[in-house]
Amino acid sequence: MTELRSTFEQVAVEGVRSLQPYEPGKPMEELQREYGLSDIIKLASNENPRGPGPQAVAAARDAMAHANRYPDGNGFRLKQALAAHHGVAPETITLGNGSNDVLALVASTFLGPGREAVFSEHAFAVYAIVTRAVGATARVAPAQAPGRAMPYGHDVDGMRALVSDKTRVVFVANPNNPTGTWLERAELEEFLRALPGHVIAVVDEAYCEYSEDPRQPDALQWLNALPNLVVTRTFSKVHGLAGLRVGYSLAHPAVADLFNRVRQPFNVSACAQAAAEAAIADNAYVRDSVAMNNEQRVWLRAELEGLGLEVLPSSANFLCVRVGDADAVYAGLLRAGVIVRPIAGYGLPEWIRVTVGLPQENQRFVGALAALVTTGR
Ligand SMILES: *Cc1c(COP(=O)(O)O)cnc(C)c1O
Repeated sequence: MTELRSTFEQVAVEGVRSLQPYEPGKPMEELQREYGLSDIIKLASNENPRGPGPQAVAAARDAMAHANRYPDGNGFRLKQALAAHHGVAPETITLGNGSNDVLALVASTFLGPGREAVFSEHAFAVYAIVTRAVGATARVAPAQAPGRAMPYGHDVDGMRALVSDKTRVVFVANPNNPTGTWLERAELEEFLRALPGHVIAVVDEAYCEYSEDPRQPDALQWLNALPNLVVTRTFSKVHGLAGLRVGYSLAHPAVADLFNRVRQPFNVSACAQAAAEAAIADNAYVRDSVAMNNEQRVWLRAELEGLGLEVLPSSANFLCVRVGDADAVYAGLLRAGVIVRPIAGYGLPEWIRVTVGLPQENQRFVGALAALVTTGR
């Protein structure tokens, strides 16, 4: 086994050899198996805790009746719905098996050996994975210092300084995961406008629906002005469809055309397309989800700060909390049946990331955490 490991390690392409697999939040069933617990809550993957919207569920169920047929490889109906929703042409849209898939399309289209991608320290882990997997080089800009208004957030000046004639892609998460921090309109716009034309600017807006800060921009406003802009969105977060895997990008049709050449022909399942089409029309589900999240986020922040813990600014559906010995706190929470996300892999070993859950889930998390951090003192 070990011998074969090293053999295949040599055979693999160089980019893959340097990779570590993405570590997802612990599945509830795994904790159930390992600890024999029955009453488990998962606040680890920034999913919508309310469950999928009933209209999306009904649409997916109806689509199941035709599952013997391949899905529409062009995603005609979903693209029409998204185009109408965003007020853009359908040709700007590329559907993905989650927005993750679209991020991988960006890499396989624009990156490769000898090319570079720029992103921030503590940014979403997938940027490094898709970059290295295709043999390109990751240039990681130092994040904002702890004392700044957006501690550990993106520093656009530092990112700009790493852009060179080898750069083909810049990844910006707004807001960022796992920090929750965001860039304001003026600084992001200035950064994007100053990028050379040979650089594709990806603005990943997985959590933008939760924003309450009028200064946090919607990057779609720049699509016409900036032909090198790729905005990614997902159905995994506020739309409550993480398990179905559907996301998309909006970009200049010439860029979308390139993505379409490398895209797997049936990358989004029929059930996912149908559910997403229903979900994008279900404004009430999104509105109620945002309202609950933002109210609970305020409550949760106050409770955590009441425990004397530092909490980063967040315009998303999660909070990043400094707990000190994060490994011990993570393990203690698991024993209490609460799954959160340790983020040492993001260069934040003293912090955990917790998804804002249902009110009773948040209360249970705070209770379990309080027991751990107060006995630890
Ligand atoms: C969760 C998340 C995504 C969404 O991934 P999907 O593949 O669409 O499920 C994208 N970007 C960031 C920053 C995220 O946190």
